[in-house]
Amino acid sequence: MSKLKLGCIADDSTGATDLANNLVRSGMRVVQTIGVPTAPLVAEVDAVVVALKSRTNPAAEAIAQSLEALKWLQAQGAQQIYFKYCSTFDSTPEGNIGPVTEALMDALGTDFTIATPAFPDNGRTVFKGYLFAGNVLLNESGMQNHPLTPMTDPNLVRVMQAQTKRKVGLIDHKTVGQGEAAIRERMAELRAEGVGVAVVDATSNADLHLLGPALKGMPLVTAGSGVAIGLPANFGLKPSLQASQLPAASGLQAVVSGSCSVATNAQVAHFKATGRPAMAIAPASLMHGQSDAVVQQVLAWATPLLKDGPVLVYSTAEPDAVKAVQAQLGVAEAGALVEHALAAVARGLLGLGVRQLVVAGGETSGACVQALGIAQLQIGPQIDPGVPWCHAPSATGGIHITLKSGNFGTEDFFSKAFGALA
Ligand code: ADP
Repeated sequence: MSKLKLGCIADDSTGATDLANNLVRSGMRVVQTIGVPTAPLVAEVDAVVVALKSRTNPAAEAIAQSLEALKWLQAQGAQQIYFKYCSTFDSTPEGNIGPVTEALMDALGTDFTIATPAFPDNGRTVFKGYLFAGNVLLNESGMQNHPLTPMTDPNLVRVMQAQTKRKVGLIDHKTVGQGEAAIRERMAELRAEGVGVAVVDATSNADLHLLGPALKGMPLVTAGSGVAIGLPANFGLKPSLQASQLPAASGLQAVVSGSCSVATNAQVAHFKATGRPAMAIAPASLMHGQSDAVVQQVLAWATPLLKDGPVLVYSTAEPDAVKAVQAQLGVAEAGALVEHALAAVARGLLGLGVRQLVVAGGETSGACVQALGIAQLQIGPQIDPGVPWCHAPSATGGIHITLKSGNFGTEDFFSKAFGALA
């Protein structure tokens, strides 16, 4: 197997898919691994995205996980390392973006890197070091109330400086707009001033394409998924259909949805309105050890229907219903019960011959991928921004699966997804 061009470390799993999707669209063949791989890669690729679950762990744990991933990527010959975090720079004053960046810099023996969560396609832009989400500053976007990583300061130079001992500087939009030479000159200037991490402005994909060439040869890049669009060209790669090619799809089709986000509620309603069969799982029915029985009922219902097209199994509900269930069962218990049941349904559906599976919900996806024993995903064509089809190979031929995080996808996502694979 040839040397890996780009080795990526993502601090969560749907974020990893988002990055992988951008790389594929820019011409790289990509495999996403669930944690640090223990087996050889399933395909010949240009980039690997190792999906960790390190965003909100204690910093020491996040560092340890990231360094383990780095070691594996280096063993594959990765020529450049990309540390991927959220486009809203989700972190606490202690980290983990700063501490992980610093640890990776130390391990790579480099004294300079960049940091920018800019992802203009998703409305995340950085201007004079300030992060905007849509039309408002980060700290007015709702992110100031995030339960785990409240973001109350939109100034990324300050936010990053609070998390790292290295000096943080800025490469502003004027410099970025002038292109590679000016960006490299500014980097040299910052370096001479003792700056170790440069926040970079970017308000458009054009900015990211101007930034890309200036990152050629940089041992470590830290960013959201946006910067990825400018990197494949540094390795001589252009967007191509081959990059997203997956084995031909076959087998039966199903959707499993545990997301209760606004977009998913609309997608479930839309799927039902098309007349396709759908079965709801009520969380309360899973109590008192009834989960296995409910799963068997669902599978018995699905068995005669699957041959005629996709079926939907869902726990998706509107906020009031979710709150009521959470009040009855507890937030964590309700979540765990439902995730466990939906994962068992997904496994049962595969037993019935399903080989094309749509999963809606970030946590739900994690539970299903685990229950299905999936360790690696080859990334295929995009269905909607941030959501590609993937292929998980196995001795029995493998399955096509797409993991849709809550608010992604248009209303007709479920039907569109199968159409896209046909
Ligand atoms: P999203 O990506 O939309 O956030 P997730 O799958 O990450 O979706 O999270 C949804 C959580 O809500 C999961 O833990 C899931 O088990 C739980 N859940 C799903 N349906 C219900 C429901 N009807 N009532 C309460 N909790 C639910």
